[in-house]
Amino acid sequence: MIEKKDVLAALSKVRGPDLEGDLVSLGLVSDPVISGDSVMFAITVDASRAAELEPLRQAAEKAVSKLLGVGKVMAALTAEVKAGSKAAGRTQPPAGAKMDPPPPMAGQGAPGPKAQAAQTMAGVPGVKHIVAVASGKGGVGKSTTSVNLALGLQANGLKVGILDADIYGPSVPRLLGITGRPEPVAPGSRTLKPLQGFGLAAMSMGFLVEEDTPMIWRGPMVMSALQQMLREVAWGDLDVLIVDMPPGTGDAQLTLAQQTPLSGAVIVSTPQDLALIDARKGLNMFRRVDVPVLGIVENMSYFICNKCGERHEIFGHGGAAAEAEKLGLPFLGEVPLDKDLRMRSDAGQPIVVSAPDSLHAGIYRNIAAVVWSSIEGDAAGQKRSAPRIIVE
Ligand code: ADP
Repeated sequence: MIEKKDVLAALSKVRGPDLEGDLVSLGLVSDPVISGDSVMFAITVDASRAAELEPLRQAAEKAVSKLLGVGKVMAALTAEVKAGSKAAGRTQPPAGAKMDPPPPMAGQGAPGPKAQAAQTMAGVPGVKHIVAVASGKGGVGKSTTSVNLALGLQANGLKVGILDADIYGPSVPRLLGITGRPEPVAPGSRTLKPLQGFGLAAMSMGFLVEEDTPMIWRGPMVMSALQQMLREVAWGDLDVLIVDMPPGTGDAQLTLAQQTPLSGAVIVSTPQDLALIDARKGLNMFRRVDVPVLGIVENMSYFICNKCGERHEIFGHGGAAAEAEKLGLPFLGEVPLDKDLRMRSDAGQPIVVSAPDSLHAGIYRNIAAVVWSSIEGDAAGQKRSAPRIIVE
């Protein structure tokens, strides 16, 4: 049985970044997560020194792996961006970034303290907008929506990437039919090249760990892994980076929403009431961190029988549209339940590219167009205000 105190004792023998003190007494180590014979922890370092401190990360891993009973050790370097630091500034992208700040949200008045906190977040160089796709619970089609929304944006002429932040059950590799491991941009570099699928730049935990690796990651571990996937990947110039969020609205999701410079979020829900209650939690979560919710997608909305051609509303229908109206949010569209969509998804042939003339592909392209116009403003260059969320 591995104990936290032994892990911390081992780490207290590792010198700090400037060979002064040790990792533990300098307060740089997160609470270690122990799962079976695996140990995971994060070391907080200055973002600008991440590459230089790779040997420190390795030394920490090595120190812990020497402990009796320890199998796999995973240490991640994580950076804390301080408000007002040079790297910070959602409104002041780092050098090299071509991005404009996200449009001001008309009608929302002066930014509140939470919004100001969000503005101190460093952007991802070259990435103009980051949009989260979230759901209150798993299995509602969040990943399917993320991939097809990304491809829909691309079909509308944009440069798009997808970050699979569903660290517990990464499905983007399967949905895009991508296998392989990301390579560093240069030998010894920590920055990875994203993989490519149907023209999308893609990064997923699924590319980095074996499928049977337990994913019992919590809190800080999830965060540091995700921040690395966001910031230590050479995304290149992207108009939109879609983030397929982990399902649910727990602490990890909240922190992710808080620490990612999001232009907005899309909530996916099925028509069932229960899912809508969960979807409301999703809305509340983004509201708490002042991320504009761009709208709701109702997935598995209805079913058109391919024999009789009749429309069947299996889960009831229209719940998401009614809910969206009640909350004063745009309803982005309804995606029917469809066997062909499921089969194509499971075969790594997303419907937007494999059947571009299908009803579904059209729906996703429309959703993409609405999402783009609400984050970027319409063709006349008028910045459209993000919807104001009113949650009872
Ligand atoms: P989540 O990311 O919310 O867990 P997924 O996108 O992985 O959900 O979808 C769960 C399952 O439902 C997958 O097998 C997927 O192919 C299927 N699915 C999603 N949307 C639809 C739909 N509109 N019609 C039929 N099957 C769907």
